[in-house]
Formats: sequence, C-alpha cells, structure tokens
Amino acid sequence: MTELHEMTDGDEVFGVIVRSYGLHFDVSTEAGLLRCTLRGMLKRGRRKTDPAAVGDRVRATLNTPDSDPPQGVIEEILPRVRSLSRLARGSNDSEQVILANPDQLVAVFSIRDPEPHARMIDRFLLLAEARGIDAIICVNKVDLADLPEIERVFEPFRMAGYPIVPTSALEGIGIDELRALLAGKITAFAGPSGVGKSSLLNRIIPELEERTGDISSATGKGKHTTTWTTLFQIDKNTFVADTPGMRQLGLFGIDYDNLDELFPEFRPYLNECYYADCRHMDEPDCSVLQAVEAGKIHPNRYDSYRRLVSGDAE
Ligand code: GDP
Ligand code: ZN
Repeated sequence: MTELHEMTDGDEVFGVIVRSYGLHFDVSTEAGLLRCTLRGMLKRGRRKTDPAAVGDRVRATLNTPDSDPPQGVIEEILPRVRSLSRLARGSNDSEQVILANPDQLVAVFSIRDPEPHARMIDRFLLLAEARGIDAIICVNKVDLADLPEIERVFEPFRMAGYPIVPTSALEGIGIDELRALLAGKITAFAGPSGVGKSSLLNRIIPELEERTGDISSATGKGKHTTTWTTLFQIDKNTFVADTPGMRQLGLFGIDYDNLDELFPEFRPYLNECYYADCRHMDEPDCSVLQAVEAGKIHPNRYDSYRRLVSGDAE
C-alpha cells in the first residue's frame, strides 16, 4: 500500500471522517490519515443537516501529500445511510449529526454508581429504533452487584429481544465479548455520564492509551468541548465512537404516531388487533394488551409505552 506522503497532488483516496474541527476533517484512509477541507459546492448541498459529519464515507483528493499531516480536499460525500442526530441549536427542524452511518448503538449503563433508570434506557432504545440502528445494552460495573440483581433489573429489555452484555471495565469482565460485537462495524457508545464508557473504550482499544493519553482527553471531556464525536479505528473496517453529544439527547426524530413500532416486542402483535388503528390503550380485542396479560410483553415496557402515548413521559 502506497502511503499518502508518497502520492502526488490530485491523487484520489476513499475514507471515513473520524474527526471534525469545524472547517477541517480528519479522514481515515487505507493509506493513512488525511486532513481535509470541504470542496465549496458540498457546503451548499444539504440544508437541513450537516454537509459532512464524523462517520461519513468520502472521496477525497490529495493537495499537499508531503505535509504533516498530509492534506486534501473532500470532493464527495457518499450517501449517508442513517445517522444519530439532534436538533441544531436555535432550530426546530434542522439537525446536527452526532454520528453518520452508525451500524449499531451500544447503550452503556451501570448497575450502580449511577443506578440505571428504566425510562432512560427506554429513551436510548427508542432513539436507536427510530433511526433504524441495532441496539445492544451494556451493563457495566457488574463488580458492584450480583448476577440475580442484574438479571432482574434488565429482564424487561432481555424480553424485548435486546442483547445484554454484562461488563466490568475495572475487572476486565466481558471485554472480549464486547469487542467481538464491534468487528466490521461503526458503533456508537452512548449512555449517561459516569457509567464507564471511557473506561470501557480504553479497555477495548488498549493501544489508545499510548496513542492519545486516554479517551477522556482525546474527546476533550471535562474541557471546553463536550459535543464533538471522535471515531476511533480498531482495524480497517471497525470503528467505535464515543458520542458525548448523546448525553443530553432528546427524542429528536421520533414519530409518535408509530410509537408502537419502536417497541420491537410489540411488532408480532401489531397487525392482530381488532382495530387497524389500535393504539393499544383501552381498545377491545387488542392483541398487544393480550400479550401483556399473557406475560409475553413485560408490563414495565408496556407501561413505558402508555406513558409516552399519553404524554406524561417526563
Ligand atoms: P463515562 O463518563 O461514562 O465515560 O465514565 P468513566 O469511564 O469516566 O468512569 C466513571 C467512573 O466509574 C470512574 O471513576 C471509573 O473509574 C469508574 N468505573 C468505570 N468502570 C467501572 C467498573 O467496571 N467498575 C467500577 N467499580 N467502577 C468503574
Ligand atoms: Zn392494540
């Protein structure tokens, strides 16, 4: 493989944006890291969303390949298949992309310090469902509780079909399982602060600590910037993102008319209700309510659904 600094001006490379600095983007290519600006026309392209974001796959041309780092220009953003976003500040209809093209979301919670709140877990899961992103629940700090308790607390989510990975970043439990789930994908790590996301990422990518100090300093956590996403590359096709902007995330982009479809365990029953537009609240012959009564849908998850539909979620 030819390295970037051995190439010449105008050569073309493909890669993934791993870091955004406002007007500059770091692009990870097969030939190395390329610091890029955006071709002018791209800035005007999409209006309701960021023209380029971490996770976007791009075509770039080299400008000054022998500088350090090598520099280039992003010529094309390949179509974004999905994204994790939030409302742009001061807007009610344009989005700020936190991560483009995530294949899956690892929602990290801890069994203690801080304790998990079911409603918050639901929010992260709903967000993933609304965006068509597979969700995995990671329960960290399992060194602080025993297995029956962990199983009891996460039973509603296990019943809903979500994979649950117990870990301890402190004791190194579950790290290999977690790492295996990441292979070949772009994964967003999200969850409330203090649950151990940075500690887990440092465990998963040991060389990271040597390369960047640690995740907290690499993402600028605790410093001035808390909203920028960094994509860490594990191997050619494997990326993980700490998504600091997710911590204060609302339920942007969730379609409340189709809320029932965002509960995967409801889906087998949705076409079985007597009324085609059944909201599964008090309607007769409701297949979802029957499934709750039969113990096939966990009552806590159904209760969450009811709260969201009646608008008293918070
Ligand atoms: P983040 O805010 O989600 O990135 O959380 P951090 O990785 O900064 O961790 C928050 C605190 O929890 C730190 O004091 C960690 O040392 C601690 N911590 C992280 N993982 C574990 C764990 O598995 N077990 C225990 N007991 N503490 C942990
Ligand atoms: Zn129904």
